[in-house]
Amino acid sequence: MTDLPRPTELPRLTVALTFDHDSISDGVRRGDPPVKMSHAEFGVRVGAPRILELLATRGIASTWFVPGHTLETFPQSTAAILAGGHEIGCHGWFHEDAATLARDEERELVERCAAAVERVTGARPKGWRAPYWSLGAASLELIEAAGFAYESSLMADDYRLYRVRTGDRHSVTEGSHFGREGALVEVPVAWALDDWPHFEPSAGGDRDGLSAPSKVLEIWTEELRYAWAHAPGGLLTITMHPECIGRGHRMAMLDRFIDAAAALDGVAFDRLDRYVARWTAEQIAAN
Ligand SMILES: [Zn+2]
Repeated sequence: MTDLPRPTELPRLTVALTFDHDSISDGVRRGDPPVKMSHAEFGVRVGAPRILELLATRGIASTWFVPGHTLETFPQSTAAILAGGHEIGCHGWFHEDAATLARDEERELVERCAAAVERVTGARPKGWRAPYWSLGAASLELIEAAGFAYESSLMADDYRLYRVRTGDRHSVTEGSHFGREGALVEVPVAWALDDWPHFEPSAGGDRDGLSAPSKVLEIWTEELRYAWAHAPGGLLTITMHPECIGRGHRMAMLDRFIDAAAALDGVAFDRLDRYVARWTAEQIAAN
């Protein structure tokens, strides 16, 4: 258990390396054929151990969003993540698309996922990331009610956390009415900072993926430098998947990205739960 830190000045820039450890969870739900299942299995068999070794070598603590199915089906992978000092957050059970779930069904799912993480870590999880970054109309309210400190699937900011708003109403006749900000903190994400759309062909064939790592390294490094220069105290969140980033040429790119971040003064790598706790403590101290 991490105690809430006293308010302190945040690092010049914090970089959060986050890993969505989907593995075969969504393949099981969809009934995927053998080759797709094997692509997903690579994440738990090769990708995750490779990533954990790199993080240990570089002394980096990270955040892993793990579906309940991955958590329970691959206990050795879960144990290795925890042994490395990394945070585990929730990511559905079978990687469900929340927009397709009924409210009661989603409420039960959120609780089931939180309970599974609590069983392996001994503490309630702090973070939720929606599978596919897809939220339904009730999702944010349910995640907040379940006691999560932060959510990480929205895109209304880039290097700054913000309080999640619930109850927005939009209508072509009545216009837009914005709801209230609650306690839930948002850790914003971006497609350009996600390994998947760069590297993985889409199921429907409308995206070829398979980018050269030099292209992705350029995008991530420019985001890093821009955030460092323009968002003091901010957070750069990178989203990765072990079955994707775990391939050799992409691991080499991740290593170079870490070099680029470490070369800037005042850059710290940290887990999201710790950054969110520090940000929250500063907000409270400032008000
Ligand atoms: Zn996922």
